[in-house]
Amino acid sequence: MSRPRAIIYCDFDGTVTQGDVIDVLLTELADQSWREIEADWEQGRIGSRECLARQIPLIRGGWLAIEQQLRHIALDPTFPAFAAWCKAEGLPLCIVSDGLERVINTLLARAHVTVDAVWANHLDESPSGKLAIRFPYPSLDGTCRAGLCKCQVIARNTGDALRVVIGDGRSDWCGATHAEWLFAKSQLLVYCRARGIACSAFEDFDTIRLALTNWLEKKRGTHRTVVALSAVTDAQ
Ligand SMILES: [Mg+2]
Ligand SMILES: [Zn+2]
Repeated sequence: MSRPRAIIYCDFDGTVTQGDVIDVLLTELADQSWREIEADWEQGRIGSRECLARQIPLIRGGWLAIEQQLRHIALDPTFPAFAAWCKAEGLPLCIVSDGLERVINTLLARAHVTVDAVWANHLDESPSGKLAIRFPYPSLDGTCRAGLCKCQVIARNTGDALRVVIGDGRSDWCGATHAEWLFAKSQLLVYCRARGIACSAFEDFDTIRLALTNWLEKKRGTHRTVVALSAVTDAQ
């Protein structure tokens, strides 16, 4: 396959799923004290890394209970077609999430969707069913208090492919600054507009597919023009 022209970094919770999965798991399965921790995070007193490290052990019933709850989580109905289109166009599609890798893989498999990579936090379960979270992709310089630092993951791509970032919320703030083309909805859109960060608003993945299709066609058009011009030069 030739070099990808764009790499797509897509958030998961609230972007691919309708609503936040961890919020559902906490509401249904955790001790009520998760709400105080959540308030600390909402007020900016703690980052998501500390927030998740304290909340995930409050979930009761282990992975089995989580799996039951995942049956009620719906994906954006336009996402599977978008993932298939990315594959057909040779555009790598990566999920970059401050959520749980196992949850993401389970929900994608259920929808028969495959992606090129999933970067997310890891869930550990002890033999007694006690849960804990691990953060394999934290901020390297400690500047970012997220569990998974999206700017670090996105900055790894140093090739010439266009970096497309898709997101909806606070976990996307740090990655947004590394996007060459940012698609934003909900809170992320409000955040970007308030700070003058360039972005394209989107409602669902059909909007993004259309925008990227137009971009690819323009690129192909430019390419054809260059080929035609060189043909003329050769003929002279
Ligand atoms: Mg999100
Ligand atoms: Zn970051």
